[in-house]
Amino acid sequence: MNKINHLFGSMVFNDAVMKSRLPKDSYKALKKTIEHGVRLELDVANVVANAMKDWAVEKGATHYTHWFQPMTGATAEKHDSFISPQNDGGVIMEFSGKSLVHGEPDASSFPSGGIRATFEARGYTIWDTTSYAFIKDGSLCIPTAFCSYTGEALDKKTPLLRSMEAINKQAMRILKLFEANTSPDKCNCNGVERVIAQVGAEQEYFLIDAEIFKKRPDLVFAGRTLLGAPPPKGQELDDHYFGVLKPRVSAFMKELDEELWKLGIYSCTKHNEVAPAQHELAPIFTTANIATDHNQLTMEIMKIVARRHGLVCLLHEKPFAGINGSGKHNNWSLSTDTGVNLLQPGSTPYENAQFLLFLTAIIKSVDTHQDLLRVSAASAGNDHRLGANEAPPAIISIFLGEELTEILEAIETGTRYKGKEEIQMEIGVTTLPHFPKDTTDRNRTSPFAFTGNKFEFRMLGSAFSISGPNITLNTIVAESLRQFADELENSSPADFKKNLAKMIKTTFTKHKRIVFNGDNYSDEWVTEAVNRGLSNHKSTVEALPALIRDDSFTLFETHGVFTKTELQSRFEIRIANYAKTINIEALTMVNLVKNEILPACMEYQDVLAKLLERKIALKQHVSELDISAEKHLMRNISTLTAKLLTKLIVLESTLAESSENLAMQNDVQDYAKFYRESVFTAMCELRLVADELETLVAKKYWPLPSYAALLYSVV
Ligand code: ADP
Ligand code: MG
Repeated sequence: MNKINHLFGSMVFNDAVMKSRLPKDSYKALKKTIEHGVRLELDVANVVANAMKDWAVEKGATHYTHWFQPMTGATAEKHDSFISPQNDGGVIMEFSGKSLVHGEPDASSFPSGGIRATFEARGYTIWDTTSYAFIKDGSLCIPTAFCSYTGEALDKKTPLLRSMEAINKQAMRILKLFEANTSPDKCNCNGVERVIAQVGAEQEYFLIDAEIFKKRPDLVFAGRTLLGAPPPKGQELDDHYFGVLKPRVSAFMKELDEELWKLGIYSCTKHNEVAPAQHELAPIFTTANIATDHNQLTMEIMKIVARRHGLVCLLHEKPFAGINGSGKHNNWSLSTDTGVNLLQPGSTPYENAQFLLFLTAIIKSVDTHQDLLRVSAASAGNDHRLGANEAPPAIISIFLGEELTEILEAIETGTRYKGKEEIQMEIGVTTLPHFPKDTTDRNRTSPFAFTGNKFEFRMLGSAFSISGPNITLNTIVAESLRQFADELENSSPADFKKNLAKMIKTTFTKHKRIVFNGDNYSDEWVTEAVNRGLSNHKSTVEALPALIRDDSFTLFETHGVFTKTELQSRFEIRIANYAKTINIEALTMVNLVKNEILPACMEYQDVLAKLLERKIALKQHVSELDISAEKHLMRNISTLTAKLLTKLIVLESTLAESSENLAMQNDVQDYAKFYRESVFTAMCELRLVADELETLVAKKYWPLPSYAALLYSVV
């Protein structure tokens, strides 16, 4: 066996380990739970727990933890050791089925958005058998869902699992219709039992030197630079993208791969990204649930491995102004348990009709629920990307590619499709003309692009849990499929083909405004989008209220994904998180300017003043002495320093006003809006002045490492 084979999954209690370590009956019972959600009996759980413990202890583990994903967006773990005291003063290692399946962390400090008062704080964790247990840092980690005693989801996993169930249910209804109305040799969905959402999340990040990181309080507290003049060289030469990896970066990536492989994560692609010091990792796709767990682990392990190499991994969406920020591309598709990708155009007319039905269902979903998709990518950090001077824009649209769009248009108008082969498109009768996968992948500006056999949702922020966007995608598509199934189930078998064709046609006509194949970064698109009636929520504060609209409550409740209370709690947590994030940034900025930048400007002015004084004295003896440079610099710096103080005072007073707002318990939405409109604006104005001063004050007096030093810190 080669090294990678040996390494891969070595820290995972995966199917192979289960098979080899569990008695046959227990293995079978556990598989039933994993694949069909059948309840796990306690005696089986006991056997599984014991086998897991033996395996983990052999691998050096001493503890176990229920690993869960609270609404902070991070992961949580509380470690308990396996030790059990014995009468003889010694201990044995024990792990019961009950402890495996169910946990009760004292979790009163996690955000619940009002679901849970602290006096009834205890939530409980339940084993998610669809995601394998693994060993990390000496602990056996059991992936779990986290709920309140009253059953509300307090985490990001529970609703994701529910949404996967919702899309499974509705997609299966559609497949059953095709199975019933198609001869077996023409149908690719015979015997399918489940439809599973599949996800591959490409992750962008920055690496900078740890020593330099420590000297930037803004990076330490806010994860992004709040000040900093542009460096002489940014990304304008496009020489970093796919460039040769620097040895330190390459060593980091190698170790990262190994650590991820040990955890069974399919880390696959690595490369330099567009901005200096920016990189990307892409795994091979897997089920939405496992992809989410794995992406959380990937982000965590990136940070840990970076530290071992004297580096810091920045996951913030916009660590540096003026150059690209980091996002996450969420590649999403639907596949059957028999391995058919439902977003892959097929090779028979029926398979293609099925493909077109799923495709139009997605078009309908994205158009109808564009605001919810926008919300799923909203955060204070991501506001610097979406709808700011960087793409994708805050406007949701779909890129289908020219060929596919023309095919749909030909279907809509009943005209001949004039591709390479000219044909009359007739649903269920003709096959789709072949359109090569790579021609669908040319547009990199689209927020939601069809890339041949999957959709790529490109709006996500780099620091996000991918759970929210996938919950949204699964649910909105489940809803369109539900409506389609309701209608088609009522049509007689004789009419199936006709009704199907009509459905595809009318759906495309109704929702085609969401399709846009042009340049999403252009100003013309912003105007055009308005004409088409598409939403453009520029910031998180504007986007979030869509979560608590009546149509959103109905949508998520219909599919059992979120109750109204659960949605409201998510809204409250996220809007408060927005205000808190800006507050931390503003406080950090105030400190920096007050305690470091202003004193540095004074100090340098003192040097200049002394020099001027001396030169003026000298000038009495040497009349031709030129003092214009000193005077000019002195004048500029003192004017700007005075301006800096004025802007600082404005920021401080807006912050004071926001504390008053909070004390008066004003509406949380107004409160966040105030942060967006007043505090954030004051920060931007203060930054402008500080950045100009940075270009004037001598380097040795400037207290912060420059952008150049940060971005080129890894050699
Ligand atoms: P790029 O977008 O950089 O051109 P690819 O299209 O090859 O790269 O793949 C990007 C990501 O999409 C990878 O994580 C890959 O595993 C994932 N992916 C590929 N096919 C699918 C699919 N059918 N469903 C979900 N994700 C997929
Ligand atoms: Mg991609």
